[in-house]
Amino acid sequence: MTNYLEQTRLDGKVALVSGAARGLGAEIAEALLQAGASVMLSDVLSDLGAETAARLAAAHDGRAAFFKHDVTQENDWAAVVEATIKQFGRLDVLVNNAGIETAALVTDCELADFQRTMSINVDGVFLGIKHALRAMRPGGSAGQGGSIINLSSVAGLVGMPTLTAYCTSKGAVRLMSKAAAVEAAKLGYGVRINSVHPAIIKTDMGANVVKNVARLGLAPDEASADAYVESLHPLGYGQPRDVASAVLFLASPASAWMTGSELVVDGGASAA
Ligand code: NAD
Repeated sequence: MTNYLEQTRLDGKVALVSGAARGLGAEIAEALLQAGASVMLSDVLSDLGAETAARLAAAHDGRAAFFKHDVTQENDWAAVVEATIKQFGRLDVLVNNAGIETAALVTDCELADFQRTMSINVDGVFLGIKHALRAMRPGGSAGQGGSIINLSSVAGLVGMPTLTAYCTSKGAVRLMSKAAAVEAAKLGYGVRINSVHPAIIKTDMGANVVKNVARLGLAPDEASADAYVESLHPLGYGQPRDVASAVLFLASPASAWMTGSELVVDGGASAA
């Protein structure tokens, strides 16, 4: 008989979470650690990343570490995958979480800002999938299959004012996940690839979304912007744990028959 609680455990598994110094990435790392995995946290913010990893390591038997990593740099990806396998012995889960949000009216959006958004949110996820798959597939340096989870957004499903660059990038992550998922399955890599689509969670990024709604004239002030943005979610604002739970599910054997799927975690925002 299937032991369903065991299906959600990750004991002995190893995960790499990008952009994990703070926000959703740090909470995802906490969830994976609680489920029994060892976790390499990576980020461009080295002081905060090292601090977060040290806090998590102290709470979870030393099973967390930090590696400085810019997701736009291919050499950094090769290095962080190698360092994770060297430190913890394997690689089973990659969470492509690092990302930025760029808010501007499309008529004012600088090409450089659009391209920077693509570089971090799209190139970064592409490079992560590429290097993790190389390591996880049979014959790779980890070689035991695994699960890749890409943070898209509800903004990867529907259009939103002031977020043209961000929506473009997150829509790309959605379809990149599906294309890579079917390829990996057809080639028998034993690696599942899925995307997660949260609505607004008030991390540093989520709080900025609200501020920008007021700054760009879609609401008269920040208090009205906050009320407006919350009203877009039938269940109200979510918490980082809501996204971390969804990622944990996709990382674990409980989701063994899911690949190329899009898990929407949005308090009902896209259903309204
Ligand atoms: P955040 O800004 O709080 O954290 C993002 C992290 O990514 C930061 O630690 C940052 O330093 C890191 N990062 C940025 N550029 C990087 C780079 N080039 N290389 C490595 N790390 C880099 O944001 P968050 O809310 O925690 O968002 C995490 C992910 O979830 C993002 O992909 C975001 O688009 C997505 N998301 C967030 C929300 C939300 O409302 N918070 C909603 C939907 C999707």
